[in-house]
Amino acid sequence: MTELVVATTNLGKLREIKELLKDSKIKITSLFDYPDAPRIEEDALTFAQNALKKAATIALYTGKLTLGEDSGLAVKALGNRPGIYSSRFSGINATDKENNAKLLRMLRGVPRSRRQARYICCAALVDSHRIVDVARGTCPGLITPRAKGRNGFGYDPLFLVPLYNKTFGELDPAIKAKISHRAKAFRKIRKVLEEYLDSLAQ
Ligand code: IMP
Repeated sequence: MTELVVATTNLGKLREIKELLKDSKIKITSLFDYPDAPRIEEDALTFAQNALKKAATIALYTGKLTLGEDSGLAVKALGNRPGIYSSRFSGINATDKENNAKLLRMLRGVPRSRRQARYICCAALVDSHRIVDVARGTCPGLITPRAKGRNGFGYDPLFLVPLYNKTFGELDPAIKAKISHRAKAFRKIRKVLEEYLDSLAQ
């Protein structure tokens, strides 16, 4: 079975990616299986570039088909920040709790009508010879004035999905797996992956 290395150590992300790619004919590993892999500096300017950099660095190191994923939150009232800096919004090695507290501080007093946000996800598939493809997905929402729910990770307890009037922290993970930015990007990447595996079999 073909191995797919997911170039991440983010457990929340990895859990979701495994679920989104379940039933694919691949064996999923991650950077936890390659503890000596090079550290990847996320110094690119876009989600797509960061996703490609993660995938290409690890594909060259392992020689295996690799998936790089870069994602984050763009808040309209903050000029689309934190964006590509979402995981380090309140500093290097920031915890989700610290990032969420900073976001709530910065949006204090901002009315619901101006709290629009968007999650963005880019997923890149690279093997040891070439870039296979890059896919993108987005998910619109609103930032709540306080955290609600314990599901998901990162900014999920603050990210309200208007259709359900619940945050991703409150919603069943099975719903997030259908409508999230990551779900949308991975529906595309799944197709690319299937075509790639078919081409190997020929
Ligand atoms: P990355 O590992 O550099 O791609 O950072 C992604 C960061 O964006 C995470 O650490 C979270 O802060 C945020 N993020 C991305 N996707 C999600 C999600 O699905 N839920 C909550 N936060 C997310």
